[in-house]
Amino acid sequence: CETDKVQKYLEPFRLSLEKLQEVSVRLRKDMKRGLGKHTHHKAPVKMLPTFVRATPDGTEQGDFLALDLGGTNFRVLHVRISEEEKKVIKMDSQICAIPQEIMLGPGVQLFDHIAACLSEFLDSQNLKGQTLPLGFTFSFPCEQKEIDKSILIRWTKGFNCSGVEGEDVVKLLKEAIQRRGDYNIGSVAMVNDTVGTMMSCGYRDQSCEIGMIIGTGTNACYMEEMKNVKRVEGEDGRMCINTEWGGFGDDGALSDIHTQADKEVDKTSINPGVHIFEKMISGMYLGEIVRLVLLDLTKEKLLFKGEVSEALTTPGKFETKFISEIEEPDNGLENAKKILTELDLKWNLVDARVVRLVCDTISSRSARLCAAALATIAKRICDNRGLEHLKTTVGVDGTVYRKHPNFSDELQEVVHLLAPKCEIKFLVSEDGSGKGAAMVTAVAQRPATKELGQ
Ligand code: BGC
Ligand code: MG
Repeated sequence: CETDKVQKYLEPFRLSLEKLQEVSVRLRKDMKRGLGKHTHHKAPVKMLPTFVRATPDGTEQGDFLALDLGGTNFRVLHVRISEEEKKVIKMDSQICAIPQEIMLGPGVQLFDHIAACLSEFLDSQNLKGQTLPLGFTFSFPCEQKEIDKSILIRWTKGFNCSGVEGEDVVKLLKEAIQRRGDYNIGSVAMVNDTVGTMMSCGYRDQSCEIGMIIGTGTNACYMEEMKNVKRVEGEDGRMCINTEWGGFGDDGALSDIHTQADKEVDKTSINPGVHIFEKMISGMYLGEIVRLVLLDLTKEKLLFKGEVSEALTTPGKFETKFISEIEEPDNGLENAKKILTELDLKWNLVDARVVRLVCDTISSRSARLCAAALATIAKRICDNRGLEHLKTTVGVDGTVYRKHPNFSDELQEVVHLLAPKCEIKFLVSEDGSGKGAAMVTAVAQRPATKELGQ
């Protein structure tokens, strides 16, 4: 019958535990390649050193500025870390829109825009006379040479500004501020959002040594032993590694689970051929995968009596947030009906149920793939330390993780099945990209003797 045909169509999106184990083994190998001195150049999983050598120890303090670029919004923040109160306080923050033409225009224009937003914020806060240190959460893959030297490898998600790839982002920011000449900033620390997330949770829970984002994009970082970080001198202590797991599969390692819909999403993206894993998982792409599956099912006459609508054939019209709404346990079916009506589709009750099934299948796949990747990291930490049993905390953030009704449950359940020896606590970060950036800046300023403590 029809439902069987739908189930059959969705089969390639359902990943068994065995398959996830295989995926995990492949990622384990790729992480090793990324860390290696002679193998990292060609490694799809880049395993980037972050020059963050320690998680917070509670002695950090002071006032900081933070910039947050690469998530849902661009933000400017003023953050205070109070040692006495053991608290990170967001004094104030401001969202600045970044118009599409700036996201896709020349880099100079982007950095001028950022510097202008910061100027306006400093005015509003009466901070222009001070020279505060600045944490820059820049959520793109960067080759870091030092905490304040960070070369963009490539844009991801919706950004594609010319003249920035291969350049030092700190330099571009400082030049833009100099062109204005109306304020100064202190030392700069470059922070990936995963690192900010780990560090903001690390202030509350000292065993937090993994940071994970499942939002517009996806990625994770974790504390690696320095002796395994072959590209950075030194054998002692640890350094946080930004895995950039979104690039997993860029060499074809995931071709057995890469479906026709995934290929289509990749082909029509801003950056075809790269960040394959991310495109199967993150919020920027999930809605589009669902749309393509629905379109196919309609063409197969398994939905909407075979009749498409203009909305259904238009890229981007099925938003990722619809998936969460349609999967809501109580109102999901009602939400589905409303959304399908808004998309000009002629649905019946069976259609609404099928659409719900499709959403569930695609979001589950995303959660399970994340689980496989996270289990790989947890096991690696466990192996690194020669432990039988690891107790650790993951700082998490991102719209998909936060907003989807059962994403986090499924993720946690599957990680447990894949890495039974690791007891993992999940801590949703409170503004990791803002407060975390300040924390990284603060830790970087801590006396050197403390930095190797761990
Ligand atoms: C970027 C990562 C980032 C992730 C989550 C990816 O597209 O490459 O650097 O951490 O998105 O924002
Ligand atoms: Mg080393």
